Amino acid sequence: MANRKYIVGNWKMNGLRAQLSDIADIAALAETHEGVDVAICPPVTLIAQAAENTQGFKIGAQDCHFAISGAHTGCLSAEMIREAGATLTILGHSERRTDQHETDAEVKAKAQAAHSAGLGAIICVGETEQERDAGKAIDIVCGQLAGSFPEGADADWLTIAYEPVWAIGTGRVPEVSDVEEMHAAIRSQLAQLMGDGAGAVRILYGGSMNGSNAAQLLAVANVDGGLVGGASLTAEKFGPIIKAAAEA
Ligand code: PEP
Repeated sequence: MANRKYIVGNWKMNGLRAQLSDIADIAALAETHEGVDVAICPPVTLIAQAAENTQGFKIGAQDCHFAISGAHTGCLSAEMIREAGATLTILGHSERRTDQHETDAEVKAKAQAAHSAGLGAIICVGETEQERDAGKAIDIVCGQLAGSFPEGADADWLTIAYEPVWAIGTGRVPEVSDVEEMHAAIRSQLAQLMGDGAGAVRILYGGSMNGSNAAQLLAVANVDGGLVGGASLTAEKFGPIIKAAAEA
């Protein structure tokens, strides 16, 4: 049986209080599409107010620290994020793996911390263009997944996002056959890591998904939803993706 689709907006470092109304508009739109799970991950500064404004809608963070508390200036624990009103967090986004040099081991520890605090975790994996051109995409992605995979994970709280680094924010999207091949490889890697529960873990595609290509991407086998950056910032842009997921 197909998994219920999950569409997640990653706002990255975009959004001031004036954009809280966009989150409210997106939440209202999501309510009209009952067959799809929808979440928005705004900057941390907006989480509490967004969660209060949109009761019952999923608000997430874009990172958390792996420690419960302590001397980590500028960082936020999973518990703090949960208390602010988030119910999930993105982890290991390629921008963090690159800019903050996050390793698989850190992502794994963060996922465990997120789960302990009651947050869902979306672990991102993806190859660079150079790695794809060298024919190493599947090995790289499956290696990241194995290294980042938290012990005791199950589909109730773990989601994987396949995001080819070269497709993020570029307007470029892989061939459908490449998406299909990679998602199948991720599914079988999950089966090795967790056995029977692997089929229920949602695997999202991310990288320049928009209202024009969402239906095609969401129809691919093992694509259980999307992680969306630029096209998630307004209800006008995000709405067609949510609709495509509802109809997939
Ligand atoms: C992302 O950053 O997770 C992403 C997929 O961005 P975009 O949709 O803008 O490519």
